[in-house]
Amino acid sequence: MSRVYNFSAGPAVLPEEVLREASEEMLDYRGCGMSVMEMSHRSKMFERILEEAEADFRELLHIPNNYKVLFMQGGASQQFAAIPMNLMKNKVADYIVTGQWAKKAWQEAQKYGRANKIATSEDKMYSYIPDCSDLEIDEQADYVYICENNTIYGTKFKTLPNTKGKPLVADVSSCFLSEPVDIEKYGIMYGGVQKNIGPAGMVISVIREDLISEDVMPETPTMLKFKTHADANSLYNTPNTYCIYMCGKVFQWLKKQGGLEAMKAYNEKKAQVLYDFLDSSKMFQGTVRKEDRSLMNIPFVTGKKELDDKFVKEAEAAGLYNLKGHRTVGGMRASLYNAMPMEGVKELVAFMKNFEEGNLK
Ligand code: PLP
Repeated sequence: MSRVYNFSAGPAVLPEEVLREASEEMLDYRGCGMSVMEMSHRSKMFERILEEAEADFRELLHIPNNYKVLFMQGGASQQFAAIPMNLMKNKVADYIVTGQWAKKAWQEAQKYGRANKIATSEDKMYSYIPDCSDLEIDEQADYVYICENNTIYGTKFKTLPNTKGKPLVADVSSCFLSEPVDIEKYGIMYGGVQKNIGPAGMVISVIREDLISEDVMPETPTMLKFKTHADANSLYNTPNTYCIYMCGKVFQWLKKQGGLEAMKAYNEKKAQVLYDFLDSSKMFQGTVRKEDRSLMNIPFVTGKKELDDKFVKEAEAAGLYNLKGHRTVGGMRASLYNAMPMEGVKELVAFMKNFEEGNLK
């Protein structure tokens, strides 16, 4: 067996221990003679898997009782519609557009009401987070929306915007469970799990109870109503059972690592190794304003396309995979999610140093 260091932005690297355990349980999950994939979602066995996964997730994030945790399908992109359909009572919402995912969410919301773009960093290719300490929030706004960690551009909100009392809705797909958060600052915190938590195909949404009601846009499909899933404890229809099982394993793994405080410390150390090198390199540069740098997604460039292409190709030959940057930024991007070990980052930096020495003229 030979595993590579996988720097993909998602689907992404998962803890080896989790994958190993899942493969051991593949044919016979805890003596029941079948795989979790083959199990009824109404079985006692699966109900326990779901209950434990939710309990561990709540424990990791210290989620208070007045928040529901929903496991839903359709990916993060489906929430771009579900959120306005469920929340836009006044048909108004304020969006902070700091990258393509926030922009897509904002564009989708325009189908359902007035979606104001109240701040953006598009003037500088989304390379920073705008000052959101005193924004003009629409009095009618039903919520304020952000993408907290911008996967493509590598920026992160270090301070949440001042929403002046409006519920904050945050897409945390690419920083999910990477550090502790104060859930009570959010109306909704949601994310696709395929980056930091598990396989693709599911969203976990943490929703304050007062934002879940029957009073949604009349055309809202049953499957997009938060209330449908909240009332049924995420078992209204057949959920993504295998994904829930894998996420549950990752929650257990996170608890074993010491929880989110420990993950934050480790993630900071890993990112520092790469950022320190970028700041000292004569060939590679980071693309993001320093104070807004993400711990999870780190884009960098050489400034020359041929050199970038050569780097990505040679890195792959050395076992460092998926370093090509997003097509809109170019260059490279290293995603250092929870499951990326420090050794992977050190190998990457050692490779970058060698590449720089061999290619600087
Ligand atoms: N939001 C963010 C921040 C993302 O990075 C992504 C995907 O990469 C999405 C949303 C879209 O997720 P999905 O493919 O699950 O719809």
